[in-house]
Amino acid sequence: MPTTAPKGPGYGLQAFSRPVDAPPLPRIARGEGIWLIDTEGNRYLDASSGPVASNLGHGHPRIIAAIEAQARQAVFAYPSQFESAANIEFAERLARLAGPGLDRAFVVSGGSEAVESAIKFVRQHAVVTGQASRWKVIGRQPGYHGNTLGALGVSGDAHAHEIFGPMMRTVPRVPAPLTYRLPPNHTVESHARNCAAALDEAIRSEGPETVLAFIMEPVGGLATGALVAPDIYHALVREICTRHGVKLIFDEVMSGAGRTGRFLAADHWPGARPDIAVLAKGLSAGYAPLGAALVSAEMVQAVNAAGGFMHGFTYNAHVMNCAVGAAVLREVEEADLVGNAARMGSLLRDRLEDLASRSALIGDVRGKGLLLAVELVADKETKAMIPLERVAPERVKALGMRHGLALYCRRTSRGAYGDWLMITPPLTITAEEVELLVGRLAAVLDDYASELRA
Ligand code: PLP
Repeated sequence: MPTTAPKGPGYGLQAFSRPVDAPPLPRIARGEGIWLIDTEGNRYLDASSGPVASNLGHGHPRIIAAIEAQARQAVFAYPSQFESAANIEFAERLARLAGPGLDRAFVVSGGSEAVESAIKFVRQHAVVTGQASRWKVIGRQPGYHGNTLGALGVSGDAHAHEIFGPMMRTVPRVPAPLTYRLPPNHTVESHARNCAAALDEAIRSEGPETVLAFIMEPVGGLATGALVAPDIYHALVREICTRHGVKLIFDEVMSGAGRTGRFLAADHWPGARPDIAVLAKGLSAGYAPLGAALVSAEMVQAVNAAGGFMHGFTYNAHVMNCAVGAAVLREVEEADLVGNAARMGSLLRDRLEDLASRSALIGDVRGKGLLLAVELVADKETKAMIPLERVAPERVKALGMRHGLALYCRRTSRGAYGDWLMITPPLTITAEEVELLVGRLAAVLDDYASELRA
């Protein structure tokens, strides 16, 4: 047995397969604020917070102190045997920040588990309230809600469905209201209205009495490249769900915990609040595996009255993870990171739009707060996508590493919808760091443009 792990993917199966000829990855040594530093001393500006998780940046002293303090007390105690102060503080803070109607948390270890939990909770709620005929969950195409079979089943990811489809129950999917590549003769608003009408139609054709829920990302993540639908879409979706008695689930795994400049992205559309919200990633800012499904006290009461939620995991409300979550939420409030996301998001967006006006490669800049994305195109006039064989995302990512810029990008569904880079730095970013990020991104795109011309 070698005493040190080999370079490259190592012993583990690499998640989301990288090309076999991809260069070996740098090995992480430590993190400091917005910087990631490898074992050779190279520094990378974290332009994406990893997969949009590290909202507080790296090596945060208050979170490290909270981890140390909790480790000296209790790391794990099974929640059906013991309560923990960490869980109580975390749940109380979360309920206050999420607001009325989303003030009960089922606490799990990540986004996929939280989506599974939300869907199962809504189903059980339907059963105990005399609506057992409702079981179908409608999702959007494209859309992403996680990689366990239930969460993947409601995701609109054609490539994953090609492989795992036979193992999942196929659910109806309606088009996501994309805002950049529109169908002919449509405006953003008329297309969004059509997408909402497609939801109404799908519910009617399935039979409203069979439809349990509609799940969507209120501000899109990787699947749509930070899609923000017009206000009318949100209002229509809420009205349609209410009219048919369908629960509206917001997947806020990426958009929640302050990233869009409000604690929940749902807070941007107060008249169109969801019935359930799902959070993860930024909730623990990457310092622990943590997720939560937020529901109303009334729904919990109904399920509890019928014997309680038939669902659970070993690591529900894990004591250490909850302590991290509580410390992260404390920091989000005390350092006004939601406000910083709004302020720095608007500065970063200005700078990206300026870069787009100079770059032949950036076709669109979109998003809210610090949940931003730039869409890469081969031709800005025609919006033509970069040819598949030019492996845009992997190549841009590799060039980013060369320029000390850690980027997050993936060609979803084999490029069917386009290529984009998520520009989602930690919520702690400063104005100077915004300038540095955009300067490095400009250099990366210059290099990539030269490669495309070669
Ligand atoms: N939902 C959304 C919108 C996501 O972006 C993700 C992960 O990227 C998930 C769910 C799944 O979360 P996890 O990877 O923590 O299981």
